[in-house]
Amino acid sequence: MARIGVISDIHGNANAFMAVLNALGRADVEEIYCLGDIVGYGPSPARCLELAMTYCDILVRGNHDEAVFDEWAHRKFNPIAWAAIEWTRNQLSDRDVDALVRMKTLEVSKHDITCAHDTPHPESSAYVLDAETAAEALSSFSTSIGLVGHTHIPRIFAVSEDVLAEDFCPVEAVKCISPEPEHPVALPRGHRYLCNPGAVGQPRDSDPRASWAVLDTDARTFTLHRTEYDINQTILETQAAGLPPVLGQRLLQGL
Ligand code: ZN
Repeated sequence: MARIGVISDIHGNANAFMAVLNALGRADVEEIYCLGDIVGYGPSPARCLELAMTYCDILVRGNHDEAVFDEWAHRKFNPIAWAAIEWTRNQLSDRDVDALVRMKTLEVSKHDITCAHDTPHPESSAYVLDAETAAEALSSFSTSIGLVGHTHIPRIFAVSEDVLAEDFCPVEAVKCISPEPEHPVALPRGHRYLCNPGAVGQPRDSDPRASWAVLDTDARTFTLHRTEYDINQTILETQAAGLPPVLGQRLLQGL
């Protein structure tokens, strides 16, 4: 059993990522799982990909990672996000793109943890933000604990295994928990959980600090952490790269 660092949505923000990797180093974790969107939006996609490939034990691909090589992806992105994808593509080597192509979109770890970017449901790319979307996601995997990112908002969804049937989870039975930083949330057996650590590189819950979590499979707890980093440096790098300025400015508000 293990203490696992859980990270997601780095989005090319190497200053945030390095601060979180340093914090993970102090957090006594044995493994790190990354839930995708390593690139897109931020000024350091190649560096973030290199760091993720070096330090993460599981890496699943996110929609921004996929957009780098998917020629139809522009239909799913707003103009600012798409401008960042086109810029990102030019920053990556063929080897980098190949690494993204080879990443899976769903992995089950040796500790029986299901990892996906948006939802483990194979036919959905929902933002799991409420009981309804969580019910669909919770019925689509079979391990006790699932991990997702994509929303950039830390959250835990839980449902009793007594009410779960194959492919069905009643919406009214889903509990939504907004974890507080440094307060472990207990994950007692007998339930199925879907946990989201928030975003390393572009938080959207009005807290601009980088967001990440530790899943302790012995103690059965999920603990959110927030880490300060040099946001102004990322804003300067975003400007210097010629990326849309809003992509830097939004980091100050955590939106
Ligand atoms: Zn994302």
